[in-house]
Amino acid sequence: MNLILLGPPGAGKGTQAQMMVERYHIPQISTGDILRTAVKEGTALGKQAKAFMEKGQLVPDEVVIGIIDERLRAPDCNAGFILDGFPRTTPQAEALQAILTKIGKSVDHVVNIEVDPEELVRRLTGRRTCKNCGGMFHTPFHPPRKEGACDRCGGTLYQREDDKEETIRTRLKEYERQTFPLIQYYQRKKLLRSIQGVGGQNQIFEQMIRVLDVRPV
Ligand code: AMP
Repeated sequence: MNLILLGPPGAGKGTQAQMMVERYHIPQISTGDILRTAVKEGTALGKQAKAFMEKGQLVPDEVVIGIIDERLRAPDCNAGFILDGFPRTTPQAEALQAILTKIGKSVDHVVNIEVDPEELVRRLTGRRTCKNCGGMFHTPFHPPRKEGACDRCGGTLYQREDDKEETIRTRLKEYERQTFPLIQYYQRKKLLRSIQGVGGQNQIFEQMIRVLDVRPV
């Protein structure tokens, strides 16, 4: 199953992708995670991406397209993949199509997670991420058992630089301007299924499973 998760920042794409990995045993490909690792390690890619990410802006298309082109060729993608945070612009979507055609694959489903913008701001400002394993928590909604520590590995939790309020507003504007048009793009291709990203993560996951069991018509 080759899957794209669409939706604004804070819609829960990362959480849902992790749940999908456990259920379907296919890799989650998160351009955000790949870029954050590159920034942390100070690689050439990280140096290119850092300033854009800190401001909440999108990294240039050619940079992320290069990452995806390489990643999708890895053998662990043979049984499928979950794209989380890519594509985010029309040129990225077109490049993805070209890459997949070249390697004899196609997109099976695009799931769009819908959430009200004010709710997104609330969610993102409370989000805490584990420095060690990337596990995600949320101060009011999904707090860790022990404050500041990851339930899974005990690692330290932190607030991502781009989860600060002003940056969040920029990220949401970037989403509206650049990513929202992809909803129509995939609607035209008859691949899009929308679900409501409200309620608990298990409830949202149930909706995901329901729409994935049926191919859109
Ligand atoms: P995310 O964790 O998906 O919210 O991504 C964090 C940041 O990484 C974004 O605000 C962008 O700066 C950058 N980024 C991630 N994916 C992409 C993409 N597909 N295109 C451009 N920039 C991206």
